[in-house]
Amino acid sequence: MTASVFVINAGSSSLKYQLVEVASGEALASGLIERIGETTGVATHEVPGREDVTEHRVISDHEHAFGWVLQQFDRHGPDLDGANLLGIGHRVVQGGARFDRAVRIDDDVAQQIDDLAPLAPLHNPANLQGIRSARATFAGYPHVAVFDTAFHLTIPPAAHRYAIDATVAAEHRIRKYGFHGTSHQYVSRRMAALLGRPLEEVNSIVLHLGNGASATAVRGGRSVETSMGMTPLAGLVMGTRSGDIDPGVIFHLHRVAGMSVDEIDTLLNKRSGLLGMTGTGDMRDVQQAADAGIERAVEALEIVAHRLRGTVGAYLAHLGRTDAIAFTAGIGENAAAVRAAALEGLEGLGIVIDAERNAGRGERRISADGSAIEVWVVPTNEELEIARQVAALVAPSVVE
Ligand code: AMP
Repeated sequence: MTASVFVINAGSSSLKYQLVEVASGEALASGLIERIGETTGVATHEVPGREDVTEHRVISDHEHAFGWVLQQFDRHGPDLDGANLLGIGHRVVQGGARFDRAVRIDDDVAQQIDDLAPLAPLHNPANLQGIRSARATFAGYPHVAVFDTAFHLTIPPAAHRYAIDATVAAEHRIRKYGFHGTSHQYVSRRMAALLGRPLEEVNSIVLHLGNGASATAVRGGRSVETSMGMTPLAGLVMGTRSGDIDPGVIFHLHRVAGMSVDEIDTLLNKRSGLLGMTGTGDMRDVQQAADAGIERAVEALEIVAHRLRGTVGAYLAHLGRTDAIAFTAGIGENAAAVRAAALEGLEGLGIVIDAERNAGRGERRISADGSAIEVWVVPTNEELEIARQVAALVAPSVVE
């Protein structure tokens, strides 16, 4: 009999879900509910091979959203009772220094996710809202939290500690946590499989380039360095986030430009990156503008590539020996020009891109035959990774 996991990603006003068949990795259904709590919400339920259902309606809260979801499964399938649901997997952004793996949610775990809210004020409270509503809706099923940070808890102290007053750091839990861990874990594991070598023997650099972007150095299946920090603001240039910036800029903006902390927070998280530099946070539009010769778009792409190249260079040094570089997520999987620019001029370090392979589609090697370090495009699948981790925890025999 097939076994499935219901995967949930709850935001403050949104709810994304996918029913994943564990063995095949297929999505049996997926959906997205947006503008929860606003005057009109939008809800979509998709079942492969059937027409999508979209409704514009008021959705007052997350529990209400789950009610709508159950109704769609009832009306449009698939039959949840026939799906042999093993459990519910919840994406949780911040697991702190405590959660180094997926964990079954009980009241104590829910409380700890709440306690971590100061470290992820935008995400953990929303994730917890999703958890509370889902536990009420899917009572009787095991609920599992899968943390974005967990994969990175293997990063050694030299890489995860900041060079600040140790007492302040300890008191306020200030350290690098890293994010996108589920994706980095999935892609690095897949990378080893594609190379046909045991995970323990493969060193790779994973470049997750989407709206949010992060790089991770993975040694033998364990994260040893990553570009995001205590928050997802650090590191690479993103859709609306600045990535790395001299912290002194923040004092300057406050003292000299008269901006409040909240204004600076919004500036760096929501109005910077591609959006701040070009007026659009969408890489496709930036590329189009650059192709049309708009100077600031051309420049933005150069900044993106410069930051990527520097990160790859640093991670080559941290790993010592690197077998492969994997590009993933919206930009990593689709933007050939970004991949080419990021690795341009690295032939001397054993990285040679094949232009024709780079221009192709789907999961594939894009490095030239003689490239000492293989370069791949590996589509990520965070829902499947979450589903597998849930199954491994609640029904190990299913994933053996
Ligand atoms: P994600 O957060 O993984 O969904 O990635 C979103 C980002 O991927 C956005 O900046 C999109 O513009 C970008 N993206 C998606 N498809 C393409 C494409 N064909 N070419 C360039 N960028 C793309």
